[in-house]
Amino acid sequence: MTAVTTPAADPASSSTVPLRAAIAALPAYVPGARPSGTAWKLSSNENPYPPLTSVLAAIQSAATDVNRYPDMYATELVETIAGHVGVDAAQVVVGNGSVAVLQHVLEAVVEPGDEVLFPWRSFEAYPIITAVSGGTPVTVPVTADGRLDLPAMAAAVTGRTRVVLVCTPNNPTGPVVHADELDAFLAVVPRDVLVVVDEAYLEFVRDPQAPDALAVLRAHPNVVVLRTLSKAYGLAGLRVGYALAEPRLAAGIRAASTPFGVNHLAQRAAIAALQPPAQAEMAQHVDALVAERTRVADALREQGWDVPATQANFVWLATGERTAELAAAATAAGVLVRPFAGEGVRVSIGEVAANDAFLALAATWR
Ligand SMILES: *Cc1c(COP(=O)(O)O)cnc(C)c1O
Repeated sequence: MTAVTTPAADPASSSTVPLRAAIAALPAYVPGARPSGTAWKLSSNENPYPPLTSVLAAIQSAATDVNRYPDMYATELVETIAGHVGVDAAQVVVGNGSVAVLQHVLEAVVEPGDEVLFPWRSFEAYPIITAVSGGTPVTVPVTADGRLDLPAMAAAVTGRTRVVLVCTPNNPTGPVVHADELDAFLAVVPRDVLVVVDEAYLEFVRDPQAPDALAVLRAHPNVVVLRTLSKAYGLAGLRVGYALAEPRLAAGIRAASTPFGVNHLAQRAAIAALQPPAQAEMAQHVDALVAERTRVADALREQGWDVPATQANFVWLATGERTAELAAAATAAGVLVRPFAGEGVRVSIGEVAANDAFLALAATWR
């Protein structure tokens, strides 16, 4: 008998259990760098403000109940969201962050080998979730100014396409799709192809040409709208996101969801976040971040950078081959940014001092 080797000794050969080919081939999700010591963290599109006052109070008072299971169907949260956005509760599906909700959307509709079409570069989770769901990823490049190329995406739809992901604003480049572009796109996409409109940064959008996703949802039963409390509401650490869909699709997504997928603290926090006191505080924070976004983007352009027309809480610099070097220099200067090797860096809008620190570094790179 040979001794059982400890997995830590040689992880590469510790198990012969085959992984699904799609899983083994996956690139690892690269989280934003974590600050060591005093660095500013502009790498994960987080809200730099502390949690909203009334939300923090709700979390504290809910903490005494965590020995109990949460409400399995998150009934009160679903009803609160339905009231907040103005849809029927049957159209709302909540989950452990909108990334988890998107995974359940794909699990509900993608058969092995079905094509999932999305822009690229876009949200890093898209290829991962596509592979996990058994789908085949098909990507369409964003334009030189970081915008989704919806006509090219429409042309890339085939008989195998099951889902199209529309990220607006697009992470990591920043621009929104315009209402007329989305309308033209939906007019030509077959009605049995699901179109997911991912609005993770909705609250930061100020472009009047941005689509009204709820009107789009009413007009197109093949649309699912994704939203999250991670960004504007500053609840990234608690994980709450939701999908809006017509009731039959919503029921399918719900059926694919993890039981008790939204924990008790997250449910209470999200319910509080959608009440008037938290809404007002959130709006103040978002307005300040939008003003900072304008200041940062203008300053970068003044320095000579080409900055795509961002409508989110980040800016994109297409630094190409200099990307890794710039990211390392930023880290050395005490600012963590998110590099995409060979392509560019995404820099979240943070505290004024953090943004100033990044602007000072960026100036030395022109
Ligand atoms: C941050 C983000 C999300 C939301 O993630 P959560 O799981 O809700 O924290 C979804 N889509 C995009 C494009 C994002 O950037």
